[in-house]
Amino acid sequence: MAFDAVIEVRSVSKRFGGLQAVSNCSLEVERGSITGLIGPNGAGKSTLFNMVAGNFAPTSGQIIFDGQDITGLKPHELFKLGMLRTFQIAHEFSQMTALENLMMVPGDQPGESLSTLWFKPGKAAAREAEVRSKALDVIDFLKLGHVKNELAGNLSGGQKKLLELGRTMMVDAKIVLLDEVAAGVNKTLLNDLAANIERMNKELGYTFFVIEHDMDLIARLCDPVIVMAQGEVIAKGNMEELRANPMIVEAYFGG
Ligand code: ADP
Ligand code: MG
Repeated sequence: MAFDAVIEVRSVSKRFGGLQAVSNCSLEVERGSITGLIGPNGAGKSTLFNMVAGNFAPTSGQIIFDGQDITGLKPHELFKLGMLRTFQIAHEFSQMTALENLMMVPGDQPGESLSTLWFKPGKAAAREAEVRSKALDVIDFLKLGHVKNELAGNLSGGQKKLLELGRTMMVDAKIVLLDEVAAGVNKTLLNDLAANIERMNKELGYTFFVIEHDMDLIARLCDPVIVMAQGEVIAKGNMEELRANPMIVEAYFGG
């Protein structure tokens, strides 16, 4: 089957003043894959992610999402197109239950803004029931049923991570971007998180683009893995291939 790219980064560069953070990078994320992005600190991974997610525009180059040129579009526009990024549960959501947190994720149905629903109470109630039922499905999928009525602020670190992941399931994401989602999560919870990412990928068909420092997690989840160093893409392959490549070992794994 032909390569089906959800994201194509074409010759993208980003300069911050005198610093070339990303230099003429090209890469693709295949639909249905869990694609990893690794590289030493300062390699330009987050900068590349931020451009893909619309947090800032490239200095040059193009970013294509599902066949559409999205270069320069803002995060909320990309959200509507189905590009999602996980965020830490914000402080103001910690006083809402896990279930309510999921129900807060904005819908993306055109013409169904809150103001139009305001004048159609029947429709608003139907919509709320639909959102609740979807949120309960997500809770079930992530096996968070026992804490669904618990305040988000009282959840464990790992449960919060699952809830963050769950929020991406409330809308029809075409791709989910994860930037160091494992940071600060202990090994047991990390396994749980990884298992859920795998299930979302295999059972529900989600595509993931993942930056991660935890090499065990990358090796378990990601194929292919793209390596960046000094603002450039230097290699792509599965983890086994990369670990057998002396140039990569020297540039990244520290010899
Ligand atoms: P990584 O995520 O791979 O560690 P980053 O993309 O965060 O790398 O950083 C790449 C380079 O760009 C670094 O030298 C960093 O200091 C610089 N950089 C990142 N963001 C900014 C910014 N907003 N302003 C100026 N320099 C930045
Ligand atoms: Mg980073």
